[in-house]
Amino acid sequence: MTQIKNIGILCSGGDSPGMNCAIRAVVRTAINNGLQPYGIVRGYQGLLEGNFIPMNASSVGNILQHGGTILQTSRCKEFHEPDIRKEAAHILRRKKIDALVVIGGDGSFNGAWALHEEHKVIVAGIPGTIDNDISGTDYTIGFDTAVQTAVDAVDKIRDTAHSHARTFIVEVMGRRSPAIALHVGVCTGAENVIYPKDEIDFDSIASDIKRGMSRGKNSSIIICAEGNKPGLAYEAQKGLKEKFGIDAHVCILGHIQRGGNPSAIDRFIASKMGYRAVSEILAGKQAFVTAYIKGEVTSVPLQECLKKKDEYLPQNMELVKTLSI
Ligand code: ADP
Repeated sequence: MTQIKNIGILCSGGDSPGMNCAIRAVVRTAINNGLQPYGIVRGYQGLLEGNFIPMNASSVGNILQHGGTILQTSRCKEFHEPDIRKEAAHILRRKKIDALVVIGGDGSFNGAWALHEEHKVIVAGIPGTIDNDISGTDYTIGFDTAVQTAVDAVDKIRDTAHSHARTFIVEVMGRRSPAIALHVGVCTGAENVIYPKDEIDFDSIASDIKRGMSRGKNSSIIICAEGNKPGLAYEAQKGLKEKFGIDAHVCILGHIQRGGNPSAIDRFIASKMGYRAVSEILAGKQAFVTAYIKGEVTSVPLQECLKKKDEYLPQNMELVKTLSI
């Protein structure tokens, strides 16, 4: 078994609140165990450029309360190519990195898995994405903060909707995942939630809006999950006008949901995951992801986390509909 001395850590894909807590936990747990941590700047791109920074306990001081990632992140198209990954493995060997911690989503984990399969690099994944859409774990770092940010925004929109007796369609992030939309829908008392995969059910949305109006509600909020790209809310707006004569205003929340100070839940889980990642590497695990399962942080084989979770959470949709009558 390789004796672990140096650990590399990088963030990849979209940033999410809590990534800094995970970085801090990895760095400090590593130092506590006599290892040297190296921060790799800007994800797989930085790895290929050899952008490695030795880190100490002070490098991660005063960061856990901040969103984003001090290591920065990137999307690196070339990493899909086997020759480029061969070069990446070569760079890791040259820099004497014995294990690589990757904080990111399922895409980043696919890159890590390829590095492990093709070049036997020891890899640990820490799930960091606001979408909570990675299979193998109940939770991904950043989801709670993103939902809270969207809920705060919808609460403000509700004030205006109520004052002007309007219907608003609020589009939240989620890259085709319904998780943020459904949570926000429940937490803001939305009348309906539009899923990205389904055909928009205009009859159901219109009847929910009309039902509310008939019992004296003067405003409605429809939460819309983004599809492949932002803008599904405009399709919903057009259909409601054309089919039912309902005027709805659109608000796309966009990137405000990515940043911001991580919630206590995100800080706590990220800290536990960072600690666990280093502990498992030291215990000899070769390719795994720190996972949150039934309220506990544990680890699962990396292969279990390479896909998106395809959950429709019908019970949450039922909750939205039941509570908004
Ligand atoms: P996320 O990790 O948040 O899902 P992406 O899907 O954008 O974000 O992936 C982040 C990066 O991970 C990509 O830019 C690429 O460098 C790497 N990556 C994604 N998928 C693969 C893959 N199948 N093989 C190798 N590398 C990948």
